Amino acid sequence: DPAGTTYRRVLLKISGEALMGDQGFGLHPPTVQRIAQEVQSVHALGVEICMVIGGGNIFRGLQGSAQGMERTTADYMGMLATVMNALAMQSALEALRVHTRVITAIRMDEVAEPYIRRRAVRHLEKKRVCIFAAGTGNPYFTTDTAATLRANEMSCEAIFKGTKVDGVYDKDPIKHPDAKRYDQVSYDDVLAKRLGVMDASAIALARDNNLPIIVFSLDEPGGFRGILAGEGTYTKVH
Ligand code: UDP
Repeated sequence: DPAGTTYRRVLLKISGEALMGDQGFGLHPPTVQRIAQEVQSVHALGVEICMVIGGGNIFRGLQGSAQGMERTTADYMGMLATVMNALAMQSALEALRVHTRVITAIRMDEVAEPYIRRRAVRHLEKKRVCIFAAGTGNPYFTTDTAATLRANEMSCEAIFKGTKVDGVYDKDPIKHPDAKRYDQVSYDDVLAKRLGVMDASAIALARDNNLPIIVFSLDEPGGFRGILAGEGTYTKVH
């Protein structure tokens, strides 16, 4: 096992909003660079890393369709937004000398590689960080589902979902100071209690394949590496 952790291959899922910093929209390069450092420090342990990044900082299909756009077109725009985020992350990681590949679920060969499972596995074996972009390539899905799908396909041991808070709470901890954090919670409780970890199709796909989801705070410096070493606070959904 890589030094200091029992994990060999993991998937890190972050929302697009994690990249916008204190701005209300878009990409904030210093924030992207900070997250890239978190990834680099885990990569340095020898852990093989997959990433899926959302697109909500740029465009969400549901918002577009609520304002009159055709839903599938709006969803494709959301998927394209995730490609921009993936390229920003690639650039930040490569500035730190971490080798990466952006792999898209929608072909755009001049920009990034198309998704070919065996090829992606090979990249991981060569310690390249694989950034999976364009979601699942299908409208009506989310990047949480894409993360669960790719984590299963790549045989990741867990999904690490980096958020603003250090786990899953019984109610929104930002609004309710008395909210309680779960150390662990079952997939079925997440679904039944509608705990906002990931959308229901992502949770069901993780449950049906026994893929643990570890929810932790990305705002904590060194947090990702700490969680991989079993330190710090987090919630394990399993
Ligand atoms: N999307 C999609 N299919 C997918 C993944 C994403 O249609 O497989 C679209 C959808 O419109 C979504 C947008 O891309 O709103 C951005 O992804 P998401 O909302 O998951 O981003 P996040 O909330 O994680 O930033």
